[in-house]
Amino acid sequence: MRRRRFLYTSAALTAGAALRPLTAGPLAFAPAGATMIRHNIGYYTERGGTIGFYRPPSGAGGVVVDSQFPDAAEHFLKEVFAGDLSLDLLINTHHHGDHTGGNGVIAPRSRAYVAHERARTNLEKSEAERTEGEAVPLPETTFAKDWTMTLPDGEIVTARHFGAGHTGGDAVIHFENANVAHLGDLLFNRRFPYIDPGAGGNMTNWIKVMGKIRKAYDRDTVFIFGHAAESYPVTGSREDVASFQDYLSYLRKYVKKEKRKGTSLEALKAKTTTIPSAPEWRFGDRLRDVNLEVMWEEV
Ligand SMILES: [Zn+2]
Repeated sequence: MRRRRFLYTSAALTAGAALRPLTAGPLAFAPAGATMIRHNIGYYTERGGTIGFYRPPSGAGGVVVDSQFPDAAEHFLKEVFAGDLSLDLLINTHHHGDHTGGNGVIAPRSRAYVAHERARTNLEKSEAERTEGEAVPLPETTFAKDWTMTLPDGEIVTARHFGAGHTGGDAVIHFENANVAHLGDLLFNRRFPYIDPGAGGNMTNWIKVMGKIRKAYDRDTVFIFGHAAESYPVTGSREDVASFQDYLSYLRKYVKKEKRKGTSLEALKAKTTTIPSAPEWRFGDRLRDVNLEVMWEEV
């Protein structure tokens, strides 16, 4: 795996183009704007949370994980699924608008439209409060713990909910044969994470969720992240899962210690630039403050 990833990287550096899988099926597929990971699974970034997708080697059907915004979803479909009338599945990692805003574009073309039950409730609530932008249809199928679909070519898509974290309705979407897993916003790569307690998110439990994810997948799994700091990749390995789990643990330890010492929340925010022992997380000042505030409420 390491060697393969090294080859991907060096090939990209040489060609200066989108990564091409070395193990492409009958259809060597390399759409513009998208990056292939392996086994015809790739990701697309334009605006908002990373879209993951599976484009079967036969060229028929396919899977889309998250949808960014309506305009980005249109561009994505045009580049990755041009000419295809129907997809097998649209599935969301959670309800946030930068991951579901384009669902109205993609869901009508998809045989199944799925999300975690709490993600559906969260989406229903945010849709009821919507004052602008395009309405998002609600998922037709929901699940509480896990959900699986076997595609006509044998690839298996499994969604699993590991408990409250970024929201109360996060799911990890795993392409089992390819061993690629989309984490949605359960991992912000080297960027202070957003957290949504109003939608059931919990930072302390998020630490446990990352521990469960580390055990549920293996060292060959390629993870797709919802967001990354500029110049950091939106894919990575189990080591990145462990590093992010450490970030959350160190944040908890730090806030708890300062609160016990009698430091006020305002003073804590004023003196903190990075979390002790987790200096790699240093991008996004506003969200750093949100992290301190939310953890403050929890410890
Ligand atoms: Zn989110």
